[in-house]
Amino acid sequence: MVSSHAIDVLKNELPLEQESLRLSGDIKTGLVLVDIVNGFCTVGSGCLAPIVPNKQISKMVDESVKLAKVFCENKWPVYALLDSHHPDIPEPPYPPHCLVGTEEAKLVPDLQWLENQSNVTIRNKDCMDGFIGSLEKDGSNVFVDWIKANEIKAILVVGICTDICVLDLVCSALSARNHGLLSPLEDVIVYSHGCATFDIPSHVARNMKGATSHPQVRHSQWVQD
Ligand SMILES: [Zn+2]
Repeated sequence: MVSSHAIDVLKNELPLEQESLRLSGDIKTGLVLVDIVNGFCTVGSGCLAPIVPNKQISKMVDESVKLAKVFCENKWPVYALLDSHHPDIPEPPYPPHCLVGTEEAKLVPDLQWLENQSNVTIRNKDCMDGFIGSLEKDGSNVFVDWIKANEIKAILVVGICTDICVLDLVCSALSARNHGLLSPLEDVIVYSHGCATFDIPSHVARNMKGATSHPQVRHSQWVQD
């Protein structure tokens, strides 16, 4: 959550507007959950997981769970991306994380029930961009098929990391929509309170093989508790 002061500063410099969103069945909306896996969210679960409880990440998980419950109660479509890497294919500049078959690559405990829901499509991906990560070898795309099969007009995106995998998916979805590849999709919506990013301060990165620093924005500077 960015403070109102920070939003005011940004609004002065950028065409930024925040709006509220009312979910109803009137506009076919799909929920996209980006990488809400242990390896990014659960304390002590690998190089990119929080070392101690992290309010920004906990809030993101709580909000995502709330949304997932609403979508599943209504049998609305959900697309869950899970970061999942082969041990022999590194993803620089990040240290090894979310290796296939490990706990790190699994949904967080509060979302594991999604695995048994008929309205949920789960997709393992081995890259930052969930759109690219949904490509099959035959050139088809599971994300595109999900949009079309469910006649989705809007997607609501939440997850982690705001500035990497969430951003990449949103940019690709907008480009694909603009090129007519995602019809009937019209709107790509990001729920800011349902997004978070991980925290590797520079002093930690210096001692971590293969890592570069990625400090989470400090609560005291930008974020309200
Ligand atoms: Zn990854």
